[in-house]
Amino acid sequence: MTSFPDRYTFHSGSPQRSGSGSNTFQSIDPSTAQPTCTIHASSPQDIDAAISSAAAAFPSWSSTPPIERSRVLLRAVALLRARNDELARVETLDTGKPFSETSTVDVVTGADVLEYYANLIASGGLNGESFRLRDSAWVYTAKEALGVCAGIGAWNYPIQIALWKSAPCLAAGNAMVYKPSEVTPLHAQFLAEIYREAGLPDGVFNVVYGAGDVGAYLTKHEIVQKVSFTGQVSTGKKVAGSAAGEMKYVTMELGGKSPVIVLDDCKVENAVDGAMMANFFSTGQVCTNGTRVFVPRSMKASFEKTLLKKMEYIRVGDLAGENTNFGPLVSKAHYEKVKSYVQHGIDKDKATLIKGGVGKPANLPSQYANGYWLEPTVFTDCKDNMKIVQEEIFGPVMTILYYDTVDEAVKRANKTELGLAAGVFGKDISKCHDVIRRLQAGITWVNTWGESPAEMSVGGWKLSGVGVENGRKGLENWVQNKSTLVEMGGEVPTVFAKLEKESKL
Ligand code: NDP
Repeated sequence: MTSFPDRYTFHSGSPQRSGSGSNTFQSIDPSTAQPTCTIHASSPQDIDAAISSAAAAFPSWSSTPPIERSRVLLRAVALLRARNDELARVETLDTGKPFSETSTVDVVTGADVLEYYANLIASGGLNGESFRLRDSAWVYTAKEALGVCAGIGAWNYPIQIALWKSAPCLAAGNAMVYKPSEVTPLHAQFLAEIYREAGLPDGVFNVVYGAGDVGAYLTKHEIVQKVSFTGQVSTGKKVAGSAAGEMKYVTMELGGKSPVIVLDDCKVENAVDGAMMANFFSTGQVCTNGTRVFVPRSMKASFEKTLLKKMEYIRVGDLAGENTNFGPLVSKAHYEKVKSYVQHGIDKDKATLIKGGVGKPANLPSQYANGYWLEPTVFTDCKDNMKIVQEEIFGPVMTILYYDTVDEAVKRANKTELGLAAGVFGKDISKCHDVIRRLQAGITWVNTWGESPAEMSVGGWKLSGVGVENGRKGLENWVQNKSTLVEMGGEVPTVFAKLEKESKL
C-alpha cells in the first residue's frame, strides 16, 4: 500500500504545518478503497493566509517582464516532463485511472498547456494594440493582470485541470489560490513544489484543501478577482452566482451530455471506435463524453455486433500494467451514483441492456475486490426522454439512439440544455461539416473524439459553461483591458473655454 505524508495548506512557498486546521479527511485509492494520505482541511484562517500570501506576491510577479515569467514556467515544464511517470503514478493512485492513460495524457497535456502559454507570452501574446485615431491622437491598449485568482478543480483530470488553470493565470501575471477536489488532492502539493523548484516566487501559487465550503469561502473572498471553476452544472451555478454578485470574472467549465452522430456512409469500425472512445476512456469520467450515440437505423445490426466484439478489448487488470485500459470509478459516492443510474435504466427507463450492468467487471484481480469497479455498460434502442439519456452520468454508460434522417438526428441531438461537445463520424466530409455547423456545442470533432491540444480553445455553450480554456482566447480570460487615448495637439480639448463676448468684457 502506498501512502504519503500528511498534506497541509500550501502558501508562502511551503506547506503550513503549524497553522493548518485540525479537521482532516482521507484521500482514497479507488481501486482498493484503501486510504493513501491524510489531508488537513484549510480553515477560514488558512484560506485568508493563502490569499494574503498571493496578494503579497502579486505586485512583483505582475511587473516581472513576460519573458522572465516565461523562463520560470518553462523550467516547470521541464520538471513536469522529467517527473512524468512519478506524477502519473500519483494520479493513478488518486483517480484509479490506468497508468497507461495517466502517463500518456494527464501530465503530458498539462505540461503542453504550460509550455504553450510560456511561449505565447514570450512572443508577444500579452501585447496590446495601438492605432492612430487622428493626426493628433493615438490610442493604445494594455492587457493587465487581474490580481489574486481562485482555481477550483474537479476530480477527473486533477493535475491537468490544475495546469490548465494555473498556466494562463500565472503567465498573465496573476497569483493563484487553487483548491483541488477533496476526492483527488494529491497532485496539488507536487505541482506547488515543482513551481517553487522552477523559481516561481513564494506566494504566486498556493493550495487550499477541503470540500465545497472551502471553495465557497474562496469564491466569495473580497480579494479574489476571478474564479475559474471546473465541475458540475449545479455547483457552477452557485459559484457563478456568488462571483457575479461581487463583479468577479468567471470561467466555468461544466458538464455535458454530448451527442455523437454516426452518418450512414461511415465505416462501422470507425463508428464503433469513435463511440467507444467517447464513452469508455477514463471509465467514462470525461466531461466531453459523447454519451448519446445517434446511429442510422439501417446500421443497427452491424453497429451492435461490432461494438460487442470490440468491447472485449476493454481490459481491467493491474492498473500499472501497460495493457490495462479501464479502471474503477473515482470514489464510493460516485460509484453508487453511477450504479443507481444503470439500475434506473434497467428498472424505470426500461432501456435494452446489451452489455454490462451493475456488477463488477469479469476477470477483476483479487486485490481490487473492494474497489469501486463497474462493468462498462451499453443500453440500446434508447428514447430521448429516458433519464439515462437526459442526465450526465459521468460513468462508463453508453446509450444508443437510432434515427431515420440526419435532420431528425441533429434536432434530437440539440434538444438539451447542455452544449459542451459534439461529434460526427462519416466519409463524406462536406456532410460532416454541415452536421457540425448545425450542432450546438462549443467543442466539436469530425472523425475523432477527445483530443484537446493546447492550441485549441475549449469551452461549453448553454449550461455547459462560460469562457474558454487553452489557445490564444484562453489567455484573454485572465487579463483585463486598459485603453489609453493620448492627445498630442498641444492643447487640452475643453468645453469650458471663454466665449468671445466674455473676452471683450
Ligand atoms: P463538483 O461540482 O461536485 O465539484 C467541483 C469542485 O467544486 C470541487 O473542488 C468541489 O469541492 C468544489 N465545490 C463544491 N461545492 C462548491 C461551492 N459551493 N463553491 C465552490 N466550490 C465548490 O464536480 P465534480 O468534482 O463531481 O466533477 C465532475 C463534474 O465536472 C462533471 O459534471 C464534469 O462534466 C465536470 N467537468 C467539466 C469539465 C470541463 O472542462 N467542462 C472538465 C472536467 C469535469 P469537493 O469536491 O472537494 O467537495
